[in-house]
Amino acid sequence: MADPIAGKVVVITGGSSGLGEAAAHCLAARGAKVVVAARRKDKLEGVVGSIKSAGGEARPFVVDVTSKDEVGALIAEAISAYGRLDTMINNAGLMAIAPMEEGLTGEWDRMIDINIKGVLYGIAAALPQFLKQGSGHFINMSSVAGIKVFSPGGAVYSGTKFAVRAISEGLRQELASRNIRVTTIEPGAIDTELKYGTSDKAARAAVEEVYKTSIGSDSIARAIAFAMEQPPDVDVNEIVVRPTAQVF
Ligand code: NDP
Repeated sequence: MADPIAGKVVVITGGSSGLGEAAAHCLAARGAKVVVAARRKDKLEGVVGSIKSAGGEARPFVVDVTSKDEVGALIAEAISAYGRLDTMINNAGLMAIAPMEEGLTGEWDRMIDINIKGVLYGIAAALPQFLKQGSGHFINMSSVAGIKVFSPGGAVYSGTKFAVRAISEGLRQELASRNIRVTTIEPGAIDTELKYGTSDKAARAAVEEVYKTSIGSDSIARAIAFAMEQPPDVDVNEIVVRPTAQVF
């Protein structure tokens, strides 16, 4: 039987490292055509080079998801290269943990811009194509921090990830009758660069402690693949994946 993921055209933001990079490898290995997008060109080229040398199909695209125009250009490039768009994975993110009394408003701004507005721009850019095709799949990366607020230090990051869940669920309800699927993924501690996102030294040490029991990015790549491989009338709405050893 043919792999249901084979031939799908997939855009992944935050594809230069961590969960996005692992998903790009996993989906390309199953025959998807993957546009890997983020800001660091050298990293993207590395990911695409390694997919291609394994016989997969991928292309890099440099994007800052806080720019609506750049995200629009990313989707236009994917459609121009591959003729359609099947799955938009809104994954780029920043976790800058710090107590609110530190007043790191610049990091609050960046988290809101990347984690919330970046997802919204991804939706705005991909949705017209999905509606035109009469099919499509959004996979939005929230977090267990989007289910439960972690304190001290997690208020703003959790706020952005609660927002992603709310936006995804609203989008799902609106698109249910249009043959467009929406999946929200809520990972626990996964071993990536995410844990280095804060400039607050004490918070970073606390985060690194939590991440001692983290698991690999392949765990989330498999969750993404599971949502994608379902038949079109099955929408896996939410997937929560924690390390077995993670309590909260
Ligand atoms: P990484 O830090 O490894 O990856 C983050 C990715 O986002 C990078 O590819 C980075 O690429 C990209 N990115 C950051 N800012 C921008 C931007 N402005 N424009 C475009 N791309 C950007 O962390 P993860 O892989 O862990 O994170 C992926 C997602 O998973 C995030 O949304 C995160 O919140 C979520 N998540 C992760 C968990 C974990 O424990 N790892 C737990 C729960 C959720 P570049 O710097 O090249 O732009």
